[in-house]
Formats: sequence, C-alpha cells, structure tokens
Amino acid sequence: MSQLVVTNALIVPMTEKPRSFTGHARIRDGFVVEAGEGAPKETTKDEQKIDATGCVLMPGLVNAHTHLYQVLLRAVWEDLPLLPWLKRIYGVARALRPEHLYAGSLLGCVEAIKSGVTTVCEHNFLNPHPGCAKETVRAIRESGLRAVFARTIMDSGEVVPECVKESPEQAFRQIDELIAGERKNWELQGTSRLAFRTGPNTPPINTTPELLGEIVRFARDRGIGISAHVAESRSVVEYVRERHRKDGVVVFLQDFGIPGPESIFAHCVHLSAAEIAILEATGTSVSHNPVSNMMLGDGVAPVVEMLRAGVNVALGTDGAASNHSQDFFETMKAASLLQKVHHQDAGIIDPYSVLTMATAGGARALGLSSVCGTVEAGKRADLILVRVDTAHTQPVNDVFSQLVHCVKASDVDTVIVGGEVLMRNRRLTKFEERQVIEEAKKANVDLMQRLGSLSP
Ligand SMILES: [Zn+2]
Repeated sequence: MSQLVVTNALIVPMTEKPRSFTGHARIRDGFVVEAGEGAPKETTKDEQKIDATGCVLMPGLVNAHTHLYQVLLRAVWEDLPLLPWLKRIYGVARALRPEHLYAGSLLGCVEAIKSGVTTVCEHNFLNPHPGCAKETVRAIRESGLRAVFARTIMDSGEVVPECVKESPEQAFRQIDELIAGERKNWELQGTSRLAFRTGPNTPPINTTPELLGEIVRFARDRGIGISAHVAESRSVVEYVRERHRKDGVVVFLQDFGIPGPESIFAHCVHLSAAEIAILEATGTSVSHNPVSNMMLGDGVAPVVEMLRAGVNVALGTDGAASNHSQDFFETMKAASLLQKVHHQDAGIIDPYSVLTMATAGGARALGLSSVCGTVEAGKRADLILVRVDTAHTQPVNDVFSQLVHCVKASDVDTVIVGGEVLMRNRRLTKFEERQVIEEAKKANVDLMQRLGSLSP
C-alpha cells in the first residue's frame, strides 16, 4: 500500500475549532498517521512526496445528496416547479437502460472528483431494471470514490410510471443482491469504500404508508440507514395535510419511526419549529441542497434555525437535472449567500459552519464520522489539495472564508481517497477523462432518442 508524505501545506483540519497551520501529513496504508506543524522529522526513501506549497490541505468534501447519472439530463427540463419537473424526471424511467446509468454516473463521479469531493451519497430511485442500480454501483466503485449508495423505493404516485413502482419484496430482493454482490468485490479487493442505505424516495407522494412500515422493518433488519427526499416543496406539505391530516412531512414520518440517527433527509425546506425539534431529538441529519432549491424555486431551507437547534446539517449538490453542475465549491458559496440574503443579515452564517457542513457534517450524516471528514491521525486519508496561490484567491486573509467564497472547483489540484491518489495536478489517475466524456455524450444521444420516440 501507498506511503505518502505531503509537505508545506496550509492545513485546515476541520477538527472542532477553526484552526489552520502550515505543516505536513503522513499517509500509511490508506490512513492518516500524522498531521503536524512544520516539516516532518524524517522521510524515508520509499515514501512518495508531494510538495503542497501554495495549497490548502483539507478533508475531502462530502456530497451528501446527488443523483450522479443526471449529468445526462443537464438543462433538459427547466423553468418548472417541483411536481411537473418530477413527472418528467420519473418519466425518464421508460427510456432508461443500465448502460445510460453507467456512463452518466461515471461522468458524475469524474465531475465530483474534479471538484474535490471524496464521498458521495448517491440517492438512487429509478429502477426499471435491476441493472440500473448495479451499473451505478459499478461506476462508483471503479471511480475510487467513497460512497453511500441509497437504493430507495416507490410504490405509488400519479406521476410515477408503472415500470418503477415496486412491491417491497421485489425491491428488498434486489437490494439484498446488490449488497451481496458488493461483499464479493470486497472479498476480492480486500477493501470496500461502499456502504448501502434504502429509503422511501419522496414520502408520501410516491410511497404508501404500508411501504414506509416495510422499509423501516427491512432497514433495521439489515442494519442499514435511510435516505429520503423530505419536505422539498410546499406542494408536498400540502399533500400530506390533505391526504394524511398531518402537520408536516417530518411529523408524518415520525409515526413510522423514520427520523433517527441512521436517517438523512434531503432538502427539509418546509419545516415547522416543532419538526426541527423532532430532527434534533431523534438525531436525524439533513442534506441542504441550496442550488437545487433555488433552481426549482422550492424556497429557502431553515439552515440557520436547524444549526442553532443542534441539527446536523450536511450539504449536497442534488442531481444535475436540478442544479446543472456537481461543483461543490459553488454549492458551499450558494449555501452561505442564500442564508445571508434570506435573513438580510451578512453575519447570520459564518464560513466555518459552511465548511463543517461540507466535511465533518457530511461524514456524520452518512455514518462515516470515524472514517473521514477531518484531517487527523487514525482516519482514512480522504484528503484534497486546493490551490490558493491564484489571482482570484490571493492574498489569503481568512482561509475559511476564502475556501467558501473565492475558491472554484478548478482550483482543486489533488484528490486522495483512502490513501489512493485519484487526481494529481488536475489529471485523473484512473481514467482517460476525454473518453469518459465521449461515452457519456453517446449515452445522452441514445437516451434522448429513446425519450423522443415514447408516446406522451
Ligand atoms: Zn434529490
């Protein structure tokens, strides 16, 4: 396994208090074994050395909510509110093939790596064929990223095509097969960067109460967590009030025991104060997706209120169909600015809180606190080097603010996951980037042709 020493870095460890220092980090067998000030006492000749002069060394970013293959659907449907937009997104299932999922997800992974992401939570929800989830998992595994693959379920809903409505038994069988398949790979390779979750996709607009009960039972039995889209738009809250007589989606989900420390709720835009208290009391994490919320006109999530109440908030891009991009630095900046303008208070959220959401908060949300999210001895070496010696980042007066407000994805120089270098000097090590792009373009043409030939 690799032995690596990074020197002359401006280290932002993201361990509790805001702190930065010039120093070095040593990586052995995939773990950080040393992160200290100044130069290392000694280096051995079998260590690979990276001189990080002009760079920040920080934890790799955690994208806590995305749909990777949706890079194929960038800017296809725009200017639509959530429910009409979802109808089109779900309609893709009638044309979607496993090969589209593989090519799109691989391009999504490449874009993630190039923007400094080392962990993704892939919220999967269109499964017209068992190969769709399998091929997405294969793309993620081959990319080298750490990931939580949340294979979610739908069994109802007017806008959901029949081909993706599943019985619990059918869906659970496929999830068991996915996990067993990955276990085999794990045994072959000796290591796995993949974990699994399940969940209702967008309760309750595409899940029956019966399915919710079955999902909780299955998740507990298998010891896996839950990912769900929760209270994304006002229309979903109105639906839960009309159909289920409940005052909010979180209140509704509480009846099924779905909020909890193993659950991540994406969006949480429309919550009452009582629901924020439920999230805190149950230890439920939230993925805030500011660019997607703005693009779909959903509203502004009560991020400041959740943070003040003690809710763990992570950040996500959401899929490229409602964001257009997987640029995580753009997401951090949007998260900061959106709260400032919403509260009309420039001091309402500080940059370190945003960085925490993007790193340690994301790791905690995905049950990976002991694995990644900070730079410290004992954790996996999921690290990035970010150039801060450019015209748009110099001079560095406040490194935390400048990581959130000045840095761009294109400043990410090096990406390391579990000690493996996935990108160095912006060159991918496992892929020919141009080839991944060309394959995704071919998949896009095929998917669009198949969509065009469907009856309305
Ligand atoms: Zn989503």
